[in-house]
This record gives sequence, structure tokens and C-alpha cells, in this order.
Amino acid sequence: MGQPSKATYIQDPERIPTGSIPDNYVSYTLKNEEALPPITWKNWYKELHWLHVFILFVPPILGIIGACNTRLQWNTGVWFVVYSHLTGFGLSAGYHRLWAHRTYKATKTLEIILAILGAGVVEGSIAWWARGHRAHHRYTDTDLDPYNAHKGLFYSHIGWMIFKPRRKPGHADVSDLRQNPVVKWQHRYYLLLAFIMAVVVPITVAGYGWGDWKGGYVYASMLRLVFVQHSTFCVNSLCHWLGDKPYDDKLTPKDCVLTAVITMGEGYHNFHHQFPMDYRNGYKWYQYDPTKWFLWTCKKVGLASHLKTFSDNEVQKGELAVQLKRLRQKQEALAWPAEHRDLPVLKWEDYQRQAESRALICIAGYIHDVGSFIDKHPGGALLLKRNIGKDATTAFFGGIYDHSHGAHNLLSMMRVAILLGGAPHGLDEKVVPPGQHLRVARYDEPANNDHPEVLF
Ligand SMILES: [Zn+2]
Ligand SMILES: [Zn+2]
Repeated sequence: MGQPSKATYIQDPERIPTGSIPDNYVSYTLKNEEALPPITWKNWYKELHWLHVFILFVPPILGIIGACNTRLQWNTGVWFVVYSHLTGFGLSAGYHRLWAHRTYKATKTLEIILAILGAGVVEGSIAWWARGHRAHHRYTDTDLDPYNAHKGLFYSHIGWMIFKPRRKPGHADVSDLRQNPVVKWQHRYYLLLAFIMAVVVPITVAGYGWGDWKGGYVYASMLRLVFVQHSTFCVNSLCHWLGDKPYDDKLTPKDCVLTAVITMGEGYHNFHHQFPMDYRNGYKWYQYDPTKWFLWTCKKVGLASHLKTFSDNEVQKGELAVQLKRLRQKQEALAWPAEHRDLPVLKWEDYQRQAESRALICIAGYIHDVGSFIDKHPGGALLLKRNIGKDATTAFFGGIYDHSHGAHNLLSMMRVAILLGGAPHGLDEKVVPPGQHLRVARYDEPANNDHPEVLF
């Protein structure tokens, strides 16, 4: 595919003229779009985004100073927890799972509630947040991802907001959000809504409710804001850094119960990046995902519908692929018997002759050198010595003792030759050691390159 000239640089991949598709949109855009110079120790103070610095640093300072001389009343503590969850749901169930990913349908009432609650976290309007988040999913781990995890934990946590972005996030389609009346309304009145929900409401409830105006300001407003903000920032930082990758390992997102607890269920981030249209992040019923339970409850009371779930078959396919890859790594780390194509083929007479000077025993068509094992044989050295130079197949497989799978695996490691015309004993399991009955093969490998047919 020919590269389009710089003059026809494509900003919107949805409107690429036929025949002009670059081989890779990300590398093409990075090459053609100018970026601001990188942030260094020399220029960092000139590159600060002052509004974001104010929003991110003033509340924790005020909160910590306030907490030093304000006793936490138990009812204000409860209000802190309740209001953290309510505003947190605004972000996780609203901003994230409804508007960024359309994982369910919400009634207008629920949309308005979530838009108002979400404003209380002061992370920008739905329109701004969801646009960045869609770019994060579409260009994960690249420079078109606004919180690219490869730029480090600090950058993906808050660095990307504190400093002016080095380049525009990659294109993401947000036409649905531009037409959504609740999203438009929230964007228009965002500053007012954010002030009311982040400051006025938490203080007023604690003040009128139980007379704790100051506690309401310190704990329910300032420190609650800091707590919920950093909890959601962890989705971009810790969730790409801490945990496991059970569904796919191509990119950085990870699943972790600890981050799930911190982020109200968003910590099953590996699942989420694989299946972003699923209303759950915790796919398994027992996984801690209060946002999933909140949405399920909303459905039961008629506030939400069409909760989307990804096909179990495809989820399990992804899980199996990762498990097989890990098994393959484990398989490759182990030592296996010599392959028959690497073993010499001996006639019976040659075997007998060589057995006069070496402790060779024939079992199931293979000749084994048991010299180093004679003294370790659990059944005693005598049994082995008696079978040197003989075919001990029947003795090994039950004639004298029906050996364990472990013994059979160990025996196969002592193979030194193949007996020409060695009597096939009919059953594969006598030839193929139990450790090799199943194996993980890559798609371009033969299913069984150790087949006994080749032997006899
Ligand atoms: Zn997401
Ligand atoms: Zn992510």
C-alpha cells in the first residue's frame, strides 16, 4: 500500500479516501504530526498546565492542613465513604461504562443523575473525558494514547494532566456524544455543576445534617475529592502496571484485585481492554466490581437496560490462549527425551553385544542406558541387572511391577537408541511417556512429531 503524501495527511481515519490507507495509522500519524518538545528538567516549569495543577494540588493541601486541626466525626466519616461511592459511580458507571463505552442503555433520569454525580469528581466534562478515554483504548500504549503507560507510572497517573500534552490524542469517534443532550448540558454548565457537587453539596449535607460544617469541608469535600480523583487515576496508572494478564498479553493492561478495590471495580483492566463493550470489568461473579453490581441493580429498578456482555466462548478462548502460552513456556523450560530422529538404530545383535559392556535395557522398542540409575532403582539393583541385554517391556509394564507415570517419564530420559524392528507392543502409552501424552504445539508445528509410527 503506497504511503499518501504529506499534503494529503489524514487526520480522521474514518474518512480516509480509498487507496490511501497507510500501513499503520499510529506510526503514520506520529511521523506526520508535529509534537511539542519533550519535557525535561530544563523546561518542565514552562510546560505546566496551571488549571490542572490547581485542581490537583490545592485540594490535597487544604485537606491535609484542615485534617490536622479538625476531628473526624463518625457521621462525617460515613458521609465521606457514601459520597465517595456516589461520585465514584458517576465516573465509573457514567463517564466510563455508559458514555465512553456504551455498555448499557440508561434512562434519562439515570443519565442526569450520573452526569451530576460525575461532575463532583472534577475530572472534566463527560465530553472531554470520554474523548480521551476512547483514544486511550484505540491507541493503547502508543504516543496517541493520552495516558500512554509506557511513559511511566507518574505520567500515566497525573503527569499527563499536569503538563501540557505533547501531542493531540489519536482520533476517536465521539459523534454520539456530541448529539447527546445530557452530555451537551453537562459540558455547558460543567464548572457550576463541579463546584456545587464537589464543594457545596458535601459541606451542606454535613453542616445541616449534623452540624459539622468544617468536617464536611475538610473530609467530605476536599479529602473525598482527592481520594476519588486518585482512585480513578489509578485506572490509567496502577491498572497498567500491577497484576496479571489472564485474557491477553499484547498490551499493558492488567487484572488485579487490589486495584479493583481501589477503583470501584475498574481494576480488572486486562479484561476491560479486551472486552470494552462488556458492562462488567470483573467478569467472574465473585470479582470485586461494585460498579457492575450498581448497574445490575439499576437494571432491576428500571433505570438501566441492555447491559451488554461479551460472548463467554470468546472470553474463554482468550483465557485459554494465555494459559496455553504459559504452559508452552513451562514445557520449553523442561528437559525432554531425545527425539527418535536423533537416536541411532541398533540391530538386536548389536544391542546384545553392547549390553555386555554397558547397562542397556530394551523397553518398548527403545534401548535405555540405566547405568547411572541402577543403585537408585526403588525396586533394587538386582531387577535391573537381570534385564540387561533383554527386552524388559512386559516386566516394566506390570509383569514384575506396573511402574508409575513418573517412572515411565524418567525411563524415557535414559533412551540411547532404537531397536531395529523393535517389537511394537501395540499401545502408544508404552512408547510415549505420560509426560508427552499431551503437548502444546504452535500452529505451524506438526501435531505430533514424535509419533511411534516412525519407529517401527
Ligand atoms: Zn475503558
Ligand atoms: Zn487502560
